[in-house]
Amino acid sequence: VRLYGFADGRLGAGVGHEHLVDITGVVGEEVAQHARMTSLIARWGELAGAVAERAAGGERLPLEGVVLGPPLPRPGKVIAAPVNYRTHQREMGGEGGVYEGAKISDIRTYAGFIKASTSITGPGGVVELPFAARRVDHEAELGVVIGRTAARVKSADALAHVFGYVPLLDITLRGPEDRSYRKSFDTFTPIGPAIVTADEVPDPGSLELELTVNGAVRQRAGTGDLIYDVPRLVELYSEAMTLEPGDIIATGTPDGVGPLAPGDDVRLAISGLGELRVTVGRR
Ligand code: MN
Repeated sequence: VRLYGFADGRLGAGVGHEHLVDITGVVGEEVAQHARMTSLIARWGELAGAVAERAAGGERLPLEGVVLGPPLPRPGKVIAAPVNYRTHQREMGGEGGVYEGAKISDIRTYAGFIKASTSITGPGGVVELPFAARRVDHEAELGVVIGRTAARVKSADALAHVFGYVPLLDITLRGPEDRSYRKSFDTFTPIGPAIVTADEVPDPGSLELELTVNGAVRQRAGTGDLIYDVPRLVELYSEAMTLEPGDIIATGTPDGVGPLAPGDDVRLAISGLGELRVTVGRR
């Protein structure tokens, strides 16, 4: 199932690739807008049947005719993998790199960082550049949505705790500050267009990512090149902190990161997960 957020807090289930059906009532209109998808994910075992029933019988709305929002507008937390592709490690410290000459370690040293949950924006959103004179980069990533509470989970059991997957942009201010500051500005975590449930993604280690800016390919890679794969990331982070339904793991970016400018049209496509499109503006 593909699960959408649309029209300021309503939930949708995809039918074919061009329609959705409003399934907000399955969770309940009384649930606060920002909490609806989290509630659906937490109660999925109990509600999946009702979602399928509504999707099959409800009124089909053309995707082109609705305004999509972030499928998970306020995750409990977003934990992100720093330097989880070797190609990105090489470009950051290498000649002409963002931190040229610096020794760049990888996830085995850095482990992880938190992005503020208020940095989420959705498909069609605008990434707002906060400072005119400072570089802000795109980072194309696979987002993992947690489905079941995970504490001290081993990698062999990890995928049973994953609800689904979503294209994610880890927008990043370059500079000396801590990652959690540089990556947490409002609008710096676009996700979408939909959360695709894990049953439709048999192997999260064989997905292809492609990011374009104004039509030109900037990043292209496969999740098979991750240093820590999805199960290992769930193990690593759940060892430190309890992962809860609706939490998101940003799995890291391959090489090809680059600066954004006002007016840019940014598209991230991941095989089987659809295309996330945002534009860039000034704050
Ligand atoms: Mn990143």
